[in-house]
Amino acid sequence: MGATSGQGRQAGGTPRAALADLLAGNRRFVSGQPVHGHDVTAAAAASGDQQPYAVVLGCIDSRVPLEAIFDQTFGAICVIRTGGHVLDRAVCGSIEYVVGQLGVPLVMVLGHERCGAVQATVEALRTGQRPGGSLAHLVDEIAPAVTEAGLDDPAVQPLAIRRHVRRTVRTLREDDLLAGPVAAGKVAVVGGLYDLATGEVALLDPG
Ligand SMILES: [Zn+2]
Repeated sequence: MGATSGQGRQAGGTPRAALADLLAGNRRFVSGQPVHGHDVTAAAAASGDQQPYAVVLGCIDSRVPLEAIFDQTFGAICVIRTGGHVLDRAVCGSIEYVVGQLGVPLVMVLGHERCGAVQATVEALRTGQRPGGSLAHLVDEIAPAVTEAGLDDPAVQPLAIRRHVRRTVRTLREDDLLAGPVAAGKVAVVGGLYDLATGEVALLDPG
């Protein structure tokens, strides 16, 4: 297991150790030296009780497969993906479960460059045409970040992507069941940004 068996993998590990392990996995991925293959051997090895050490909320974008970009094996991280990593009750409940029941100390919200959900929101706001169906929920949830970034700013999309990550982080930190553990320092919620071309994950400061 080597570099993946750090403190963050132990029950009751700290947020700092979990983050270090997660970022170490991304460095392995970026350097072209991942150690985890997703074969049935890994599945069998993880088939007992699960003891994940982090939960990552990311986008559905097909270019951002979370277990791969963090070089994580089966059983290591919980993954939630929605369009533009938008929150809803199911997402929040899932994170509350992972933190509260599985004792996971780290939540990462991972945005990425050229996010289609953010682009769709920019277009919806520019044209005034709110999409139908449940797609409207995605646009409504991302819209505040776009508005804050400035709809007329030529860099609205990259700015809004960062703002949306930070807003999502803040919302989770204030979640009914997460706020206590976060305030106590037992759980951290952090934001990151994925570079599609280099494979690198950069942490975003709270902003
Ligand atoms: Zn996206």
